[in-house]
Amino acid sequence: MELDTNIKEIVDRALNGKEITVPEIKELFTVPAVSEESYFIQYASRKMSEVTLEGKAEVHAQVGINVGPCPKNCQFCSFAATNRVFKHFKVLTPEEIIKRCQRFEQDGANAIYLMATANFKFEEFINIAKQVKPALKPETVFIANVGDFDEAGALALKEAGFTGVYHAIRLGEGTVTDIDPKERLKTVRAAKKAGLLVGTCVEPVGPEHALEELVEKTRLAREMAPVFGGAARRISIPGTELAKKGMVSEAGMAHILAVVRLAMGYRVPGNCTHEPNGIGAMAGASLLWAENGSNPRDTDEKTETNRGYSVKKCREILSEAGWDILDGPSQIFKPQCR
Ligand code: SF4
Repeated sequence: MELDTNIKEIVDRALNGKEITVPEIKELFTVPAVSEESYFIQYASRKMSEVTLEGKAEVHAQVGINVGPCPKNCQFCSFAATNRVFKHFKVLTPEEIIKRCQRFEQDGANAIYLMATANFKFEEFINIAKQVKPALKPETVFIANVGDFDEAGALALKEAGFTGVYHAIRLGEGTVTDIDPKERLKTVRAAKKAGLLVGTCVEPVGPEHALEELVEKTRLAREMAPVFGGAARRISIPGTELAKKGMVSEAGMAHILAVVRLAMGYRVPGNCTHEPNGIGAMAGASLLWAENGSNPRDTDEKTETNRGYSVKKCREILSEAGWDILDGPSQIFKPQCR
């Protein structure tokens, strides 16, 4: 069998440190996930991921601090008010949040994230973060995953001890969500202006998404100059409209995350996938997430008892895919990398 020469040339250009063009990204996405060309793309992605993190994959761990119906109504999210999964509001106590974060620290997570729904009061989030941060080891990398915020909000996050944020312009943003994509971009700009590092992802990918949208969201993610990119699939929330469309397979996602990796290039240290899986880790995902508390892909408010993975399980998956795993604070969120 002979590799398609055009695909080989694009991949070689990416591996040689050249930024691949938007039409080239599109061309890579059109390759079937189970093909000689795709495995070549996935191998190249893996090699690039190994170079950018000096061979060490990472496990980050997120505590979801609240549940409740969210008026932003992202159709893929269990908190969307219209999905009617969580009808009550509930917030973990600061003591409980600290306990969960410290457990993740002990388990060896390389960074700790606090996540709240978009309608969670921002001041309350900052107030909680200010209690959590001093309870963590001084070197622990602390990341926020919240709704949109302005420049003052970004400064408040920085002041509360966060190194960075997770933020994405999701597939279907503004169509299956009640959020203007411009608002999401504004938040990313505010975060960067305040000196917060930004991690992002092409997500949540479903069979419903056109090739053009995948390409566009990959381009946008690259333009954000994040500390990590990657790709994650939409998980079906039972009983929702989107669930009827099914899900992309892990094999399909491995191809997509590999293309995103090559599109990002060497200047982006990390490449994530979610939920954790070995095929993705083989194909160049160098960052997996453990989760506890609430989770927008879960109908159980304690995701650790359902969909959420532990740090140990994420480390096992990476290890089985042949990765060494970083001990200590995240290198992905190391400012001097940029
Ligand atoms: S993804 Fe975020 S903004 Fe959208 S419904 Fe869920 S919590 Fe709200």
